[in-house]
Amino acid sequence: MERKKILLVSLDALGESDLEYLKKLPNFAKIMKRGAWCPHECSVYPSLTFPSHASIATGCVPNSHRVVNNYQFLPFEKHPKWNSYAYALKRKAVWDYAAENGKKVLSLSWPVSGGAKMAYSMPELSPAKPREWNTRTFFAQLNMMRKYGTPGFAIRTMLSRRELPKAWFYGKQPDLDQAMIHCFEHAIEKEDFDIAMLHIYGLDDEKHQVGIEGGRIHGYLRAYDRFVGRLMEYCDRRQERNENVTLMVTGDHGQKDVTYAIHGNMALQDMGYSTYQDGYLKEYQVYMDGCDGMAYLYPRNAESEDDREACRMAAEYFKTVPGVKAVMGRKEFAPYGCDQKAEYVLEAANDYSFETGYEAEADKEHHYTVVSHYKGLHGYLPDEDGYRTVFFSYGKDVQAKTIDKMCITDILPTMLTWLGITPDADMDGKAVKGVWKETDA
Ligand SMILES: [Zn+2]
Repeated sequence: MERKKILLVSLDALGESDLEYLKKLPNFAKIMKRGAWCPHECSVYPSLTFPSHASIATGCVPNSHRVVNNYQFLPFEKHPKWNSYAYALKRKAVWDYAAENGKKVLSLSWPVSGGAKMAYSMPELSPAKPREWNTRTFFAQLNMMRKYGTPGFAIRTMLSRRELPKAWFYGKQPDLDQAMIHCFEHAIEKEDFDIAMLHIYGLDDEKHQVGIEGGRIHGYLRAYDRFVGRLMEYCDRRQERNENVTLMVTGDHGQKDVTYAIHGNMALQDMGYSTYQDGYLKEYQVYMDGCDGMAYLYPRNAESEDDREACRMAAEYFKTVPGVKAVMGRKEFAPYGCDQKAEYVLEAANDYSFETGYEAEADKEHHYTVVSHYKGLHGYLPDEDGYRTVFFSYGKDVQAKTIDKMCITDILPTMLTWLGITPDADMDGKAVKGVWKETDA
């Protein structure tokens, strides 16, 4: 019997703004012609890497799976910790569905997959310390993979491209992208899997530095085009082995150009709702947890009428700040699927963003707004023209079709349906109509 396999590749920050150029590239042009693809795929809210990848993996919005920001909620720590670990997920992920159905998942550099049980895993984790590259660091990197991934696979993968641990350690692009692409192509040739997942983020790094146009963006897109071309060939070639392979390529969010950063917690300090000492938060009634294009306002104690009143006063202030486009109460923001434990959600205007950390330069006269370190950011409401992401699929069972609209939460149910696995009834996403030939015949 024919064996079905899926390749799921996430190209971080690939967005609508890249489409005009993608249409000129041979392999993206081919997948647009022969595959099912969506030029307007919505991310989730906040449209950030870690919540988005948790949403792709679970088919659920952040308020359901509970990875509601890139960082763990640790307001009193100066250096936030990434949401790298799968134990944070409160909904079943693709690797859980696969395990229940006797299928093997292979995952390379997927965010929020640390410690997840699957056949082959090398999760995306922050580099090991100390921050100096030597033999000790190499083994520290390897050890993290043994602890939070699958040891044999991690070792095989790191040995297949010896530059990988160093590139990962320094986070230097495009070296890391190239190493990951090599390792993924090596792994899908050598390992026995049903679903193979990869996340690479050189394009996202570049957009943070230069904005949504210019720099090395076209160079990244050309490299991704060649990669997609080789994966399409892989799908065709594997038919000889009686394998029916579907390729899915998606972004996780777009990016927007940005100039300014609003240090909302500095405003809260001046209003008397928080205290700082040596740049560390000491106490608060209201805390702004920034997600770049949006920010949550949390009361210290949700049961306290005083703290909630402080949130209301803070919300009134943010309505007067020029870079704040919207201040939403729970009824307004709940439909967007972000954290309902927040009291308010702030959405930044174009060209603006939110920064969580302490900033000595931020003052009342300038609405606590300073020039951002970044030229491009994400996190914003996901359904906006030019900011959405894009989706492509290709394979023997995939029809040639342009899909008007879908969300990144629809990817998992679409995959599961094809594999004959029933998604849980409380999954937020729905299988996309129009991808598979059979379902429409
Ligand atoms: Zn991302």
